[in-house]
Amino acid sequence: METFKTIYIALTMNPMASQEINAKTLLRIYKQVDPWFLSRAAMNLYRGCQHNCAYCDGRSEKYQAKGEFGEDVAVKTNAIDILQKELKKPLILKRLQQGYLMVGGGVGDSYQPVEEVYQLTRKTLEFLKDKNIPLHLLTKSTLIHRDLDIIKEIQDQAPVIVSMSFSSTDDTISSYFEPGVPPPSERLQLLHDFKKAGIPSGIFLLPVIPFITDTKEIMEQSIRHAKSIGVDFLLFGGLTLKEGRQKEYFIRSLLDYRPDLAVEYEHIYQKDQWGNAISSYYKSINETFDLLASAYKIPKRIPPHLFSDILSENDRIYVILEHLDYLLKLKGKRSSYGFAAYAISKRDMPLSEMKQSLQTIPGIGPVTEKIVQEIINTKTSTYYEKLLFS
Ligand code: SF4
Repeated sequence: METFKTIYIALTMNPMASQEINAKTLLRIYKQVDPWFLSRAAMNLYRGCQHNCAYCDGRSEKYQAKGEFGEDVAVKTNAIDILQKELKKPLILKRLQQGYLMVGGGVGDSYQPVEEVYQLTRKTLEFLKDKNIPLHLLTKSTLIHRDLDIIKEIQDQAPVIVSMSFSSTDDTISSYFEPGVPPPSERLQLLHDFKKAGIPSGIFLLPVIPFITDTKEIMEQSIRHAKSIGVDFLLFGGLTLKEGRQKEYFIRSLLDYRPDLAVEYEHIYQKDQWGNAISSYYKSINETFDLLASAYKIPKRIPPHLFSDILSENDRIYVILEHLDYLLKLKGKRSSYGFAAYAISKRDMPLSEMKQSLQTIPGIGPVTEKIVQEIINTKTSTYYEKLLFS
């Protein structure tokens, strides 16, 4: 681990760039479970991110990160006090125990360099250790290795997932677009170590960078690396570029690196309010990803053995149907599973109590009913498990 340490000493932050703030709230509680992360709540201990990835969505005005993104970070120094208050409410605690609590992602990596100084993530894990709350830690930093001891202690009580996000596993490309994070080769090694330590680990291949890391060759390399370390899942997604700070900063960085790509980017990013590229672009990279992930037999969503005992019955059915809808979309097929999932997410009554009348729920016909019955009886679906890998 010496290499990691050296990198972090080199990156140790300028204390002038951090601002201590008192957060009013910490937990963002969702109305329903998030099918990507299997979380019912999320939190960020830092606002802003010194990793300074060129494509970071957190740079967008929408998130109101103050100061110079990539340098200035707000540190929620009262995080533990706030969390303590929030978890005193039994309903909130119960809700958190029925899904993974997402730590990190969004507008600030929990293991960015400033964490070496404040250790807020470590203190939060210490605090959560005996709360029996499943945790999903998402980062781009090998600093998380420091907390392997606590993560293992938490895992004795509640499930834990550790995920790393990559735009590719190419060290050279990453050093340009993700200047503040350790090279992908070190991050892959870390995931390998976590897997060996018995921690379920996955990769978010997200976002792939158009015409740079979304090519078949680079994607195949990333997926091959993921396979070689035996990750539990590999989630995939394309880049969004919101008008304003995020898009301007990214395009400036891109043009320094590959000025020849200006026309291609103008063509695929056409002032969409969410920053989406044109749908034919996403369709094409989804198809490439689907073929490669299927060839390497890596689950394209977090698989059921990591969530079936955590989620409530209706959430489990909702997530599996959402995943089915996604897996079929990857193959360019349409389905009504997403519609059925949405209708189920609005039901309070456990579906096992309405086994005879499932078809009264919008979107549930005879085929979906059979799948739902199977999930009620076995907590999974054979059709779904097959699609996850193929
Ligand atoms: S690590 Fe994540 S939050 Fe931080 S700059 Fe990169 S993409 Fe943004």
